[in-house]
Amino acid sequence: MAKVLIAGGAGFIGSHTCLVLLEAGHQLVVFDNFSTGSPESLRRVQELTGTAGSDRLRVVEGDIRRPLDLSKAFATGWGRFDAVIHFAGLKAVAQSVHEPLLYWDVNVGGSQHLLAAMAEHGCHTLVFSSSATVYGLPERIPIPETAAVLPINPYGHTKAAVERMLADLAASDGRQAPEGGEPRSGGWRIARLRYFNPVGAHSSGRIGEDPQGPPDNLFPYVSQVALGRRPRLQVFGGDWPTPDGTGIRDYIHVMDLAEGHLATLEALWNEPPQLLTLNLGSGRGYSVLEVVRAFERASDRMVPFDLVARRAGDAAHSVADSSEALRRLGWWARRDLSQMCADGWAWQQRHPQGYRSAG
Ligand code: NAD
Ligand code: UDP
Repeated sequence: MAKVLIAGGAGFIGSHTCLVLLEAGHQLVVFDNFSTGSPESLRRVQELTGTAGSDRLRVVEGDIRRPLDLSKAFATGWGRFDAVIHFAGLKAVAQSVHEPLLYWDVNVGGSQHLLAAMAEHGCHTLVFSSSATVYGLPERIPIPETAAVLPINPYGHTKAAVERMLADLAASDGRQAPEGGEPRSGGWRIARLRYFNPVGAHSSGRIGEDPQGPPDNLFPYVSQVALGRRPRLQVFGGDWPTPDGTGIRDYIHVMDLAEGHLATLEALWNEPPQLLTLNLGSGRGYSVLEVVRAFERASDRMVPFDLVARRAGDAAHSVADSSEALRRLGWWARRDLSQMCADGWAWQQRHPQGYRSAG
């Protein structure tokens, strides 16, 4: 059993990952400021895993930009943490264009403080949430990890900056003693995971994605239209160079993604110190219209839409080459699009207002 600090564990991907790690027998401390995540998600994770009242999941409210809050989190474990998973951050591309300093402060500044706290407390194993956004407008599909990192918006720049910081840290290594000095602790084990498009929900329908305000992303928007909470979907561009003219993305079930984190931790713990960079995607692309049709089938509801102009900064196509994750972790995305829609719909139907809904 390992002790893991989950920064941002109350959010969409974090809560599903907590569930998978608890089921695998690990002990968790979630550190979160609840700016976009909800404490209710963690209560339900405990309920689903039968760990309520067992002390296997502790929660510390705090901000990754505040060293004092981080000290509190590092003092809350059961001794030294065996790893940190770092989900904490902001992720709305459009907001990042309007408030770039906020994004640099939280995503980059916050990550720097978290890394400093890890170093101070002797924890050198980290899984970081990066994004396919770092590839910008990819030159070829599917996208291998070796593709150029050329983000095209401030959110992507902050993810690329943290990736760079982690590469510098991994290269500093520290296993060699400085001349005349004590050997430094170190030997960082770092994974930079580039998620493609996480969607869906746990099959219980008890935890899921809970965007605040109108969703930026396709999946939650489609599910709110199916529910009748929003009248129509706007499809951003019908003139992309794709078979049906709409944008293609690589959607991955959030439970597959969560399981990818467990597989990553196991690889980091079992292998020598390293810097691992992996795409986590399904390797399959679906167009906006294919998603709409799959969602209509799963929900047995109509999703009316209008074809409108392209959204600024969009790429036509983004699909992962996910062969490296299979090779390194023995992991692949097992759940298909119909399951993503069915599980996302079950969550949405039971929680029309997200965690603010009763039940
Ligand atoms: P989310 O907003 O649901 O979760 C983020 C969590 O971090 C929330 O619980 C939030 O309260 C917490 N948080 C934010 N700022 C914080 C701070 N300063 N201090 C402490 N906690 C803070 O988002 P998510 O979809 O679960 O994404 C998790 C991570 O994965 C993010 O870093 C995001 O950039 C990355 N990512 C997400 C996607 C996606 O489409 N969902 C794709 C690629 C990468
Ligand atoms: N999209 C759309 N309408 C929406 C939201 C998204 O047509 O309301 C399209 C978008 O142009 C892209 C795909 O759906 O082709 C996925 O968009 P999302 O924002 O979910 O993911 P990202 O573009 O960040 O990969």
